[in-house]
Amino acid sequence: MAVYPRHQITINGEKKGLQAKGKPGFDLRYGKYSEIITPEHEFAFNLNGEIKFIKGRTMEWPHPFEQLKRTDGNDWVYYSCGKEGGERGVIFWLGEYYLPCLPYPNNSLDRAEYFSNPVVMKALGAWSMLFGTLYELQANGLQPGDKDLVERILAHDDNTLYQRSKRLRDIIGGRVSVLPPDTRHVDYEVVPLSISQGCLYHCGFCCVKSSNKFQVREKEDILVQIKSLKEFFGRNLENYRGLFLGDHDALAAGEEAISFAVKEAKEILDIGGNGAQQPLLFFFGSVGAFLKSKPTLMEALNRSGFRVYINLGFESVDPETLKFIKKPITREQVLEAFEKMHAVNSRYENVEITGNFLMGERLPQGHFPALEDLLKNAPGPSRGKGAVYLSPLKNRGEDEQLLDRYFDLKSISRLPVFVYLIQRL
Ligand code: SF4
Repeated sequence: MAVYPRHQITINGEKKGLQAKGKPGFDLRYGKYSEIITPEHEFAFNLNGEIKFIKGRTMEWPHPFEQLKRTDGNDWVYYSCGKEGGERGVIFWLGEYYLPCLPYPNNSLDRAEYFSNPVVMKALGAWSMLFGTLYELQANGLQPGDKDLVERILAHDDNTLYQRSKRLRDIIGGRVSVLPPDTRHVDYEVVPLSISQGCLYHCGFCCVKSSNKFQVREKEDILVQIKSLKEFFGRNLENYRGLFLGDHDALAAGEEAISFAVKEAKEILDIGGNGAQQPLLFFFGSVGAFLKSKPTLMEALNRSGFRVYINLGFESVDPETLKFIKKPITREQVLEAFEKMHAVNSRYENVEITGNFLMGERLPQGHFPALEDLLKNAPGPSRGKGAVYLSPLKNRGEDEQLLDRYFDLKSISRLPVFVYLIQRL
């Protein structure tokens, strides 16, 4: 640790986050990072010198546990503790201690406008001002241990960070418009790898779909991406525990493409290679692709070395609702996939299938009773697996109503139930 009294800053070189060996809790700084502390703010940087977190240190900061986090897509997300505590606290509806408040429209049930809070905006301004201080320090002499770090930070100004987020999109062929809800287990910090594009259904209600016809990426293309991702993430790759196979229906890419991507990514990227914890693999699957998937794929995933999460889009078990949202699958297919979800979860220790359903007050009348019935009579969780995520499809002013509806469903469900907030990378 080095203190620079004239500039009122303290530099902490490489630190190990409290969560280096576990799941993020209140403290999201897991892995290795560096820190700069000023009288008003704390700034945390990843191993490449890219800004990652900013937190206020004065009484005016909204809450001592809250902070701003920059994603690899270059979004600043405000991590709030939520408006309510107790039994309606965020931990009970998100399964995590934080509510990510996003700087773009999403389906959150808590419309906290943090980005119009002058204190939060001031923190982003302080980040720009820190640059001036670091340039001055660099000119006036830094302690030997801090030189490299400050150089790395100064090499990653706002424009460079923006260009890097564009570079990431170029590598994988576009922005990840939505991450699976299960990526909450690594605080949405994943290395994205596209093994397919588009989806099978192009449902009417969906706000994240692309217009692409479903296509599987060539092996050569997947390999080029993996090598480019290794270079892109650089030294900071060691801080990642999660791999996301994109985009909207990677399961439909089939066993050969999935197994190839997982094997190559594991070898070349060495995700979770520091051995602290089992690496996690995430992807989406459609009901159709899941029903077609063979036991050989689940067996291969189970042995892959990853803890695997496949998130399925069920949306509804009511035929009227499926028609209303223009999802071209039947109630029977949903029920069959739901049953298969339990079978896979109980059979394969390292594979967890989770499922999404919609919630919204304007859905056809049969939606909630059918969902209630399904969750109430579901087989209990196998090995604690089989989470169900409820994704709000809502109009303005429905937050409270939907949260009540969510807690009602949670109370009768035999499976773990959480709210799914759509988040991009
Ligand atoms: S809900 Fe899933 S399957 Fe339907 S359009 Fe959106 S991404 Fe495609």
